[in-house]
Amino acid sequence: MSIETLVQEPSIPAESSPVLSSPYDPTSFDNSVMTTYGRFPLALERGSGCRVWDTEGKEYLDFVAGIATCSLGHAHPALVETVTRQIQTLHHVSNLFYIPVQGELAKWLIAYSSADRVFFCNSGAEANEGAIKLARKYAHQVLNIDEPLILTANASFHGRTLATITATGQPKYQKDFSPLVPGFHYVPYNDIKAVENAIGELDSGDRGVAAILLEPLQGEGGVRPGDVAYFKRIREICDETGILLILDEVQVGVGRTGKLWGYENLGIEPDVFTSAKGLGGGIPIGAVMCKQFCDVFKPGDHASTFGGNPFACAASLCVLQTLERDNILQNVQERGEQLRTGLKAIAAKYPHQIVEVRGWGLINGMELKADSNLTSADVVKAAIERGLLLVPAGPEVVRFVPPLIVTAQEVDTALDAVEQAIKALVS
Ligand SMILES: *Cc1c(COP(=O)(O)O)cnc(C)c1O
Repeated sequence: MSIETLVQEPSIPAESSPVLSSPYDPTSFDNSVMTTYGRFPLALERGSGCRVWDTEGKEYLDFVAGIATCSLGHAHPALVETVTRQIQTLHHVSNLFYIPVQGELAKWLIAYSSADRVFFCNSGAEANEGAIKLARKYAHQVLNIDEPLILTANASFHGRTLATITATGQPKYQKDFSPLVPGFHYVPYNDIKAVENAIGELDSGDRGVAAILLEPLQGEGGVRPGDVAYFKRIREICDETGILLILDEVQVGVGRTGKLWGYENLGIEPDVFTSAKGLGGGIPIGAVMCKQFCDVFKPGDHASTFGGNPFACAASLCVLQTLERDNILQNVQERGEQLRTGLKAIAAKYPHQIVEVRGWGLINGMELKADSNLTSADVVKAAIERGLLLVPAGPEVVRFVPPLIVTAQEVDTALDAVEQAIKALVS
């Protein structure tokens, strides 16, 4: 099936939500749902391919994709067919029983990655929690470190649970939630000297560095690609010392960068890596994957009620099989090139506002000048007004993470909207 044929008119009218009984009302929404999010005044109701429609019927081109999650876009026929059939067959049991589709998904992930074993959970934060627990047990049992430390990077993002906000090297996510979880230490990203120094300084008595946890490309922290030489040296350090290299592939994994895994852009393999976001194409699923030598979990060590249920695993397997069958990684590479080329041309027209455009495949960022009076939120808002959904990655970076099935024409349409938005903001 070609990418073009997947973009269809929505076949199901909005009113057909089987459980929605009253029309959308923002006031009652805000009076009922905790205000943990700053929301755009926009209620989305249905989607198809890379397009979504709001409650007023206005159409948007979706370059957010549920934050790099809806890899196959909205209402993809293969995903619709798979989850419909799966829920009619069996959607949830318990990990106390064997779940064949979970086993098949694990087999696929192992065949197409450097990992030998998989644990399934439901989200990125939960996957990173699992990786942190694995690293701590490995430290106690194999490295004989009583007080294991995990190095993470400044400007990283690893999730919103207590351990993962602690792992996240951004104080804004930690403020007001002390006491944080002990056992983390931060270093600047892409700075090898800082890693070498930290390992030397932190090793003393019962304490030692057990793992280094990094994103191959920092997503939330501003779309900053990892440096190949930095990651190669980190791999060597881990090989020399026995420290585990954990990569957080939650945002960049599953084809987002034009390779199946982000680490393939860096010429190294991790000991442990985590996945979520794009893994289920919008159905919640997360995974912790590791090489056999560090698979220290035994029955009772870790668990999840929902993790790896038949519904989520069928969705994920469908996403992975579709990526492969439709050769979508090639589309990611080509559309990524097209998008970066177009964004760079816009950047060249606005040198006082735009610092640079960077990214891999279909995760790209446009960094605005700090002193330009233009924030990423301004650009996002102006783009939404022009029918293009975008999301910031911090106050200065506009992020572009469309579905991986985005077409050349849709990229052109998005570029047009971005240019119009910036033009209007600058004049
Ligand atoms: C989004 C994200 C997470 C957190 O995932 P959730 O599913 O929201 O818990 C963790 N790490 C990275 C790199 C992410 O982008």
